Amino acid sequence: MRKIVIDIDNTLWDFAPVLYERLNDANPGFPRPSEWRSWSFWKGLISAEKLYRTIRDVHMEQDRFEPYSEAHFFLERLKTDGFYIVIASHREKETFSSTRKWLEKNALPFDEIHLSYDKTVLFGECWGIIDDSPVTLDKARSAGIVRAGLKNPWNEREDHPLFANLDEIYDYLQTECTSEK
Ligand SMILES: [Mg+2]
Repeated sequence: MRKIVIDIDNTLWDFAPVLYERLNDANPGFPRPSEWRSWSFWKGLISAEKLYRTIRDVHMEQDRFEPYSEAHFFLERLKTDGFYIVIASHREKETFSSTRKWLEKNALPFDEIHLSYDKTVLFGECWGIIDDSPVTLDKARSAGIVRAGLKNPWNEREDHPLFANLDEIYDYLQTECTSEK
């Protein structure tokens, strides 16, 4: 069975605008997501501690937010295709129940939830990963696993398979599966 690791933020839902709103409340004039041109866009604008606290607060309220409209169908098709789905998010352990509640509330199919600060621990036994982080995608390339993500200002300059939506990612994964046969 193929194991696939799937990110949450900016992969299964539109996290950036929510994060932006909160960063802008705390720090008026904060650049908009369209100006987040690298993974370290926040450096020099806000402390790491404040950023992570803001992100954690959003994660604790995860069930207030909607997934992308294609998220359910995307995961359902992967399930039907026989994938083992690991939902993996860079978030604090205490957000586990709000994360699970959100997945269940939105009927998003999964087999396992992995919350940590290092997704590479999953790479050894996984076929591929879907993530928007250029750092994670770089690591996936080095590990030689299939990788893809939604295209965003912070990753579009990097050399990775990036797509406009989850339907396009699904089609890409199909071609990757076929090319292995
Ligand atoms: Mg993400």
